[in-house]
Amino acid sequence: MADSCDFGLIGLAVMGENLALNVESRGNKVAVYNRTTSVMEDFINGRAKGKAFVGCETLEKLVESCATPRKIMIMVKAGPAVDAVIDSLKPLLSPGDIIIDGGNTYYADTERRTKEVEEAGFLYSGTGVSGGEEGALLGPSLMPGGSPDSWPILKPIFQAIAAKVGPNNDIPCCEWVGPRGAGHYVKMVHNGIEYGDMQLICEAYAMLKEGLGLSNDELYDVFAEWNTGELDSYLIEITRDIFSVKDEDGSYMVDKVLDRAGAKGTGKWMSQLALDLGVPSTLVTEAVYARGLSSRKEERVKASKVLKGPSPAYSGDKKEFIEQVRQALYASKIVSYAQGFVQLQAAAAEHDWPLNYGDCAMLWRGGCIIRAVFLDRIKEAFDANPKLENLLLAPYFGEAVDKAQDAWRHVVSQAALLGIPTPAFYTALAYYDGFRRETVPANLLQAQRDYFGAHTYERVDKPRGEMFHTEWLDLR
Ligand code: NAP
Repeated sequence: MADSCDFGLIGLAVMGENLALNVESRGNKVAVYNRTTSVMEDFINGRAKGKAFVGCETLEKLVESCATPRKIMIMVKAGPAVDAVIDSLKPLLSPGDIIIDGGNTYYADTERRTKEVEEAGFLYSGTGVSGGEEGALLGPSLMPGGSPDSWPILKPIFQAIAAKVGPNNDIPCCEWVGPRGAGHYVKMVHNGIEYGDMQLICEAYAMLKEGLGLSNDELYDVFAEWNTGELDSYLIEITRDIFSVKDEDGSYMVDKVLDRAGAKGTGKWMSQLALDLGVPSTLVTEAVYARGLSSRKEERVKASKVLKGPSPAYSGDKKEFIEQVRQALYASKIVSYAQGFVQLQAAAAEHDWPLNYGDCAMLWRGGCIIRAVFLDRIKEAFDANPKLENLLLAPYFGEAVDKAQDAWRHVVSQAALLGIPTPAFYTALAYYDGFRRETVPANLLQAQRDYFGAHTYERVDKPRGEMFHTEWLDLR
């Protein structure tokens, strides 16, 4: 028994169980442990029956069962539980063993844990795992970071279990991301982009449902059509399918779902970190706010009885408007990804992570929630120019947004006129219009700051960095 397993896994909830089965299915013998022993026993006697698993009642047995250098993955609830497991593992490990955290961990915890585990003589890998339950079993998107020396050892197993893409289905959605917390940061940005994508789809839905009065059957057809072109993606596909599902009484399921959105916090992290970095990731922020407003259902019900707005019915050509909404969605999505990559670049500069942005796009190409054909274009843009400052400056995306912008402006203005809330569409367009301008009204802002607080300002006719102060009233 001793030293016979290729991989160890701690934490047999949905993600851990499925990842363990995935690793085993690629010809590995896997040792498994769960804090509550009965969960491990149920797994061994159930889904793992007849497979190459070793059930372990203790961490000691798990460590003993694994061949060195050990590869032990923790799939427990993110937060203090991860520290508790690491502390229990450390006295049992040998130099060079690898601890992997595959949970949704806050990147700064992974920065800290990498240092602590390395100081103790072991290797650490903070690995973002995306794709939910099904992805974990059949092929997730994996975003490994941590100790660079862990990568050559983990690579064969991780790339074997990851989702595959490409014409021959042989490009793994798993590549080394960067040191320390880089993998978990990239995973967080993935989740933040997912928030933006979902919000944009919901806004398109609102425009089509409220503005045009489309039925669920018609919405199914629209999303089926959209999924054949530039918007081809997992989220558009599942949205299409949702419109076809009926409850037992024959009515549509989507209409029975309460409009109060939940959130687990990774979108909020991305938004908070964008503020810390001073980069405008406005799509994810609006998406987080939109979920917040949706959750205040009782207040909205009250307000709906007193606050007035226009009739949401659109009176123009239906077919033309559907196409305009599609273009608004596509252009806004481009802005959302542009913002996500700008944030990644700013974080990489701050933390000294040598990220490869084209690889990041390919990691999300399969296995994860934001998987989309569109990511191939992002990969091409960064391959053509690895130092690309903003996706909007890549010819393909600049031209795509330009082509869509008339429709986009029409949809945003109609949303305002019809009183249909589309904050992500608005903010995407405002970002585009702000970004493409040589001058913005911040000259007045600096004048105001200098007027009331002597904060000083730079002048357009003097070298950058030279600061001036004016007693504004004295010059009147
Ligand atoms: P989870 O509900 O987040 O966590 C449950 C697991 O953690 C159980 O095995 C539990 O053991 C263990 N645990 C909790 N506290 C512990 C402690 N102090 N010491 C040891 N074990 C402890 O499980 P999950 O949904 O499978 O997710 C695992 C991780 O993957 C999380 O970080 C999650 O955010 C991330 N993730 C989840 C998804 C998803 O779709 N669910 C997708 C991507 C990433 P007991 O059985 O003893 O309670």
